[in-house]
Amino acid sequence: MHKAKQKIINPANGEVIAEVSVNDADGVAQAIKRARLAFEQGLWPRISLPERKNFLLKIAQGILEHAQELARLETLNTGKPIKESTFMDVPSAAETFKYFAENLENFLQPETRRISSEIACAEGNLLPEPIGVTALIVPWNYPLLIASWKLAQSLAAGNTVILKPASLTPLSALELVRITQGAGIPDGVVNIIIGSGASVGEALCADINLDLISFTGSNEVGKKIIGYTTKNVKKLIMELGGKSASIILEDADLEAAVNGSLCSIFLNQGQMCTAMSRIFIAEDIYDAFIDSFVERAQRLKLGPGEDFQTQMGPLISAEQRKKVISCVEKAKKEGAKVLCGGKIPDAPELKKGFFFAPTVLAGVSKEMTIFKEEIFGPVVCVNKFSTLEEAIDLANASEFALAACIWTKDEAQAKELASKINAGTIWINTYGMFFNELSYGGFKQSGFGKELGRVGFLEYTRLKNIVVDKTKESKPLVNYWYGF
Ligand code: NAD
Repeated sequence: MHKAKQKIINPANGEVIAEVSVNDADGVAQAIKRARLAFEQGLWPRISLPERKNFLLKIAQGILEHAQELARLETLNTGKPIKESTFMDVPSAAETFKYFAENLENFLQPETRRISSEIACAEGNLLPEPIGVTALIVPWNYPLLIASWKLAQSLAAGNTVILKPASLTPLSALELVRITQGAGIPDGVVNIIIGSGASVGEALCADINLDLISFTGSNEVGKKIIGYTTKNVKKLIMELGGKSASIILEDADLEAAVNGSLCSIFLNQGQMCTAMSRIFIAEDIYDAFIDSFVERAQRLKLGPGEDFQTQMGPLISAEQRKKVISCVEKAKKEGAKVLCGGKIPDAPELKKGFFFAPTVLAGVSKEMTIFKEEIFGPVVCVNKFSTLEEAIDLANASEFALAACIWTKDEAQAKELASKINAGTIWINTYGMFFNELSYGGFKQSGFGKELGRVGFLEYTRLKNIVVDKTKESKPLVNYWYGF
């Protein structure tokens, strides 16, 4: 049958860079069938752990061998500066496969416990097993990296996979799947579905043959997916949006706080789930911080991602830019003051792309829409605070609870403050340090479940509880009930 095609656009100039075939609901059902068969009858869940490790190491190696091409594709497709895709996204993707390859044997060890009470003794074994067929649904902001996190963990656990990249950004995911094939992963283990959420989402998520959905994306779509899954019971990992807060205390290293805050909202054009889109500054240093922050935000070099000098690329699409513009316009109407940006840049060489100037808004109160809603663009609200209680209250005044930053030279005070901030990850004097070793995930409307680390890895398994009776004097406990 003839498959429909979809054009893939370079957001830096609006030009078509590729055409990909898209799947329909039938294609989804076939992919799930292949994955089910590979799980029930194939080698992948059954091969020895050292063999599984070797396959994953080959994928890591394959990513490094194709690093330049992957970075170029990622930048062309998302618009992100090539410096970011070359030095962050691609090497981190390879590192994640390597990490889970090297740790899977350890993480899959059963946890054995001796349990005893007055009447019974038992040996309990909690055994992590592959969970089955997993759907990995990925957003467009880190297409390669987030696909790699999910794929590495799911494969390391012994599962089979349906990978669904965002329809705007499938190119690096397609290349990643080719790399898994090159590494010799058996047929049917890694499947990819291309298509919009609206056209394939429900067919994928409601299918009874799916055992787990690991979703990273917006709160809105996350809730839809939870709705689809009420038709059948399955495990969910939900990594959703954020409206994260950065708190700059009076004694902060100002230079580091300014630079860190620029990264925390303008890297990847602010299209980061953990973007610090609300910055709260101690009133005594507010003016000094703002002068430096706004001055540097205005100097960020905008341009096409392929240029190594570019510090900020275009937004992902015309539609996303429209959304950002309407959020800023609404904020202005509600009383926000634009300290810089707030518009499409004037430079003629940027006209064809979906660029938006780095934007700093002041005078934003808790009641305003821009304080509450995720924008997913290079737009930050700044406020001052006079007491720590006020800073905590402002930071926690959000339905989201994904991440936060604290800037201070007093580590003890920072840790004390961290204990009062409602967020799944808190960075002290830094931003965006993700490690394969450390599990990451949000609270409240930012979702549930973890990615990475041992805890994140175990999300991709099911824990089987095996109990052996070890009751004293070798008299099985059951004999006390019906042992006439
Ligand atoms: P999105 O929710 O629009 O899409 C995410 C994925 O879901 C895409 O693959 C999309 O095609 C798919 N999808 C859309 N509708 C669907 C449906 N009805 N059924 C099934 N799948 C569907 O998100 P986006 O715009 O690609 O990414 C931005 C969002 O992702 C932001 O809200 C951001 O905060 C969030 N995000 C969260 C994290 C995290 O770790 N918490 C990381 C990155 C991005």
